[in-house]
Amino acid sequence: MAPRDVGVIIAAGGSGNRTGSSELKQFRWIAGKPMLLHSLQRLQERSDVAMVVCVLPREYVADPPPWIFQCDTDRLLLSVGGKERQDSVMNGLEDIPAECSIILVHDAARPFFTDATTDAAVAAARAGKCAVPVLAMTDTVKSLDSDLRITATVERKSLFRIQTPQAFPREKLEQAHLAARKDTYVGTDDAELCERLGLECVGVPGSERALKITTENDFALAEALSILRE
Ligand code: C5P
Repeated sequence: MAPRDVGVIIAAGGSGNRTGSSELKQFRWIAGKPMLLHSLQRLQERSDVAMVVCVLPREYVADPPPWIFQCDTDRLLLSVGGKERQDSVMNGLEDIPAECSIILVHDAARPFFTDATTDAAVAAARAGKCAVPVLAMTDTVKSLDSDLRITATVERKSLFRIQTPQAFPREKLEQAHLAARKDTYVGTDDAELCERLGLECVGVPGSERALKITTENDFALAEALSILRE
């Protein structure tokens, strides 16, 4: 049996709203329950997960939505979100118990990631690597200037779309976040902070199901994708 040494950070500390609704995106219902609860429950189903830290906007840490406790509350901690996503992840990381040597970082905005992706990411992290779920680009890719004039058609073979959950050996993720903070560097994901230190980062198969919900339309799209076979 795998050791119970995985600590999970679910980044749900965003209060920005590109969906146009007044309710926090990560608390809105999708496929039968609040978006955040999908990720929380699914990750706690794993026998290797020792603790899940949900990072929430400050006002919700003091007064969390009651449904959040529909999980194994012995393996749940709530942390306060920061200004940027990266600050939220750092806050969560500080609260992960010492016995967790592998860290999964996941965005609440991707409720339908697959177990196969998580398994592959954790296995890579156990082998000392930083692991990110990837999807190959199937569309042709072009770059355009601000007037929408095409400036180049980009070779897509080496381009991939990146998802979460991402998995890391704990000491590498801590080293990367501390270095970013020292350099006041803000990345768009956690792997980027490791890449800039030259740490080995690898791709594992992602899934179309794991769409990141950003706009109002994405709710319907993600719900439809959620019925796809994993
Ligand atoms: O805003 P966006 O969808 O890119 O955010 C990705 C994830 O990071 C979301 O789940 C969001 O709640 C989280 N986030 C956070 N703290 C912030 C900003 C975003 O935890 N300050």
